[in-house]
Amino acid sequence: MVKAKEIFLFIMLFALGVFFIYIYFYVKQTQEEIFIKMQENKIEDVSYVLKNIEDALLSKNSILSKDDLISHLSNKKNRTNYEEMISLFITPSIKYIYLLCKDQDERFRFLLDASKEDKANFYQKFDVFNEEYALAYQTSKPQIIKQQEMQNLYLTYLYPIKSANEVIGVLSVDITSDIQSDILDLLRPLETFFVILIIFIFLLMLMTILQIFHYFITRKKIFTDPLTQIYNRNYLQEISPRLNLNHYSLAMIDLDHFKVVNDVYGHKAGDAILAKSSLIMKSSIRDNDILIRYGGEEFMLLLYNRDSKDDLSEIYERVRKNISSHIFTYEKNKIEMQVSIGVHENPATEKDLNEAIKVADKMLYIAKKEGRNRVIYHKDNSKSTKNLNSKDIYFVKRAIEEDRVLCYYQPIYECKSGKIFKYEALVRIIDTDGKIIAPIQFLPELKHTNIHYKLTQRILSIIFDKFKDSSENVSINMNFTDLINKDIETTLKNTFASNPSLASRVTIEVLESDEIQNTALFKEKVKLIHSYGATVSIDDFGSGYSNFKSILDIEADFLKIDGSLVKNIATNEKDFKVVKSIIAFAKESNMKTIAEFVHSSEVYNKLSELGVEYMQGYFIAKPCERLLKESELFKG
Ligand code: GH3
Ligand code: MG
Ligand code: MG
Repeated sequence: MVKAKEIFLFIMLFALGVFFIYIYFYVKQTQEEIFIKMQENKIEDVSYVLKNIEDALLSKNSILSKDDLISHLSNKKNRTNYEEMISLFITPSIKYIYLLCKDQDERFRFLLDASKEDKANFYQKFDVFNEEYALAYQTSKPQIIKQQEMQNLYLTYLYPIKSANEVIGVLSVDITSDIQSDILDLLRPLETFFVILIIFIFLLMLMTILQIFHYFITRKKIFTDPLTQIYNRNYLQEISPRLNLNHYSLAMIDLDHFKVVNDVYGHKAGDAILAKSSLIMKSSIRDNDILIRYGGEEFMLLLYNRDSKDDLSEIYERVRKNISSHIFTYEKNKIEMQVSIGVHENPATEKDLNEAIKVADKMLYIAKKEGRNRVIYHKDNSKSTKNLNSKDIYFVKRAIEEDRVLCYYQPIYECKSGKIFKYEALVRIIDTDGKIIAPIQFLPELKHTNIHYKLTQRILSIIFDKFKDSSENVSINMNFTDLINKDIETTLKNTFASNPSLASRVTIEVLESDEIQNTALFKEKVKLIHSYGATVSIDDFGSGYSNFKSILDIEADFLKIDGSLVKNIATNEKDFKVVKSIIAFAKESNMKTIAEFVHSSEVYNKLSELGVEYMQGYFIAKPCERLLKESELFKG
């Protein structure tokens, strides 16, 4: 989890910091405004005083020009009068008041000086360093010279004396006050407090950032596999409580024959290939998919399935292809790699993630057994048939190893002769507790696995052993994959070559399923079986994929009508019609028909009416471990 607590703390500190900085500057500004107000007040007072002095100078003495003013004040008595009057305005904060004028050379000279100490002489030169003096003359407006020193109020106020709109002199007043420094002294602790507080908050913020940073660094370290730089199993553990499996398809991926790379090129080459493979896989998936190094050279991939525009099987295929098409290089060696992928598209249907991983692992196992470099999906249809006590491939594998596979035989009855025409061999497994397990509980799980082929091999050996020296006929179930399997082909070939009589008594029943779409290959295999002297039956005809044309091409000997059509023939008009047309079609095509699932006399009678050649079902006889005799049929 992202450290929400730390992030919250950081935001709080940040807000607090901003708040205190705002307060700090607000206090500073208020202080500045107070000082300005104080200055304005002082200047206002002073300007009244100066106006009065101006009035005193000008009103009674008929002074009209600068020269008048100079000559009037050149009189010592006059000067003393004025200076005494002006000195009345001297206070601790108004220390200096003096009157200046400009001479012909634009130099300033003292006319009056009310100071008590260091008094300037009449017409003594006054050195000007500020342009405000000239400005007072030019603009005829009072000027303020602010001194730099902040703690004390320290200004010079220049007041132009005008006569007939001409400036004839300038009254200059120096104002000082230490009230400002008193205020500042009062405020200083508060200011220091704020500064310390802000520094403290800043340091806390820094610490929080470091903590968050540290958290992310360690988090990355803990959850990343150092070799491949992708997630490791710790990450899976971290996310699994929050992982919604409904949103993902799950795959287990394993590099094929990886051990060989280590053995041939060394462990370092293996490491380099692992790292590069991870990179390729990572670049083959999307941002919201999760790739985890699950173990040595095994990876787990969670593909996000909520994005309807993406076809997940394309992504799995892309992962597989991108690895197999890449040429890995290690010290000038060119190495090719492949991956096998086992997919569980709906992991949420399992009890938990571990169960889903097990299923994907099983698919991976199948992918390995089927030749590697492929993607195998756990199909949902195997799920629906799985419901009751479904057994997995390991169950079958063990049963084969422990010799617990056997066959039951169900008679197939010839209507015309009233004799048993042949027996259909039906596989059973004896569970470890002695219970007989029906194929519905384990066959769907085996589809496309090499265990299925092993089971078929086992069944063939059981059946051939039982029938090799008898005179009975037998029907053996196979699916299309078995039929095209080279090993099975060899078994059939060898057995039939050494026992032609057996061949003539064997029918291979091939399930009519989607795989039969490859008619040419199917036809070729049927021909091969015919060449041994055996016959072929199309099993479960009418169950779903019936294609009359391709069945015609195949040239099978028997057509077994699917039980789902047969069982309701007495009551369902449509089923009756379908069965009728299948029988007619078979007759036309020189194929014999077998009806399975004959469970009642009504069904039996209807089928007899339609002229079906062979029948099989509980009404005639149930499958039995031994071969039943004719006298044992129709016993309910
Ligand atoms: P299969 O196609 O059946 O998967 O065969 P395989 O050789 O890939 O599988 P196996 O499980 O027999 O061997 C996997 C090897 O991967 C064994 C192990 O030494 C090696 N391995 C596991 N982790 C690492 C690793 O981090 N670096 C290297 N170089 N090799 C590793
Ligand atoms: Mg491997
Ligand atoms: Mg492995």
